Amino acid sequence: MSAVLSLADVYRARRRIEGRVLRTPLIESPSLSAIAGAPVFLKLETVQPTGSFKLRGATNALAQLVEQGCRKVVTASTGNHGRAVAHAARALGIEATVCMSALVPGNKVEAVRALGAQVRIVGKSQDDAEHEALRLVREEGFAYVPPFDDLNVIAGQATIGLEIVEALPDVAHIVVPLSGGGLFAGVAFAARSANRAIRMTGVTMARGAAMHASLAAGRPVLVEELDTLADSLGGGIGLENRYTYRLTRDLIDNTLLLDEDSIARGIVHAYQHERLVVEGAAAVGIAALLDGLLHDTRVERGPLVIIVTGANIDIDLHRRIVSAMPAQSHSHQSS
Ligand SMILES: *Cc1c(COP(=O)(O)O)cnc(C)c1O
Repeated sequence: MSAVLSLADVYRARRRIEGRVLRTPLIESPSLSAIAGAPVFLKLETVQPTGSFKLRGATNALAQLVEQGCRKVVTASTGNHGRAVAHAARALGIEATVCMSALVPGNKVEAVRALGAQVRIVGKSQDDAEHEALRLVREEGFAYVPPFDDLNVIAGQATIGLEIVEALPDVAHIVVPLSGGGLFAGVAFAARSANRAIRMTGVTMARGAAMHASLAAGRPVLVEELDTLADSLGGGIGLENRYTYRLTRDLIDNTLLLDEDSIARGIVHAYQHERLVVEGAAAVGIAALLDGLLHDTRVERGPLVIIVTGANIDIDLHRRIVSAMPAQSHSHQSS
């Protein structure tokens, strides 16, 4: 299916990250199943150390660099990738520097520092942060760990796809939060390798969706970066994108765009009905289902899996969102 990535790479990634990254729970959601009219399962990457799935790709990429004798790494990140690189570097006993833009929320900056990494705040966009990271590579001998457009990162994220098809062989539809596409490409590659009929949906925010704009344009394009509740989905895909644009284009069935109110409803539903604290980026799959965007005949053929990608939301922001919305009782639950 893909000349650049093989299933053997994904199994190698799984062996490399074993013991450092969790095999996460896949739990059925009664409330979402009732709404969808089909079994809906949540893949809970929220329980990973560092609070997001990014630890899979980062751990696979760093373990490979260490095998090659590398001792210091740098990355640019909107938060979760930076945390993952910091955590993986500490676990593997090497040095990590994380470049971030000034738009990154303070809780994420502090989290990276607390994990023992150096933080450099540069510019006002993900692109500025990436330029600084590449300068450190050119001038100071660091190895760069990209957040998504890297085969080792993609293979690490793909281990989620393996876990889903192993736990739920009849899965009909997988719903994936979409930004740079490392997660989508990896999960879609692994899932489709097991069963070509699995439907793959990518969900992202309407405000600044670079992959969506690129798919529509037929090539990687720039979009303006905007503030969004789904801050982990912000940032470009890179005009020089090597892997994730094509893999996503070739494997995606449907892309959904959500407005900010919808994302907030997803966060609230996760909290009230699943007792889960999720960040905006992780709530988009649930939000799409609540908006009625995932109901189709294919869904009803078999189970739907929503990947709940991360828990790293500022806790005061979370409290404000949850308290702004009254407790909701869906009719199926009150009856
Ligand atoms: C990075 C991230 C995503 C999107 O992953 P990509 O590989 O960039 O598409 C989704 N959710 C969370 C919580 C993330 O940190």
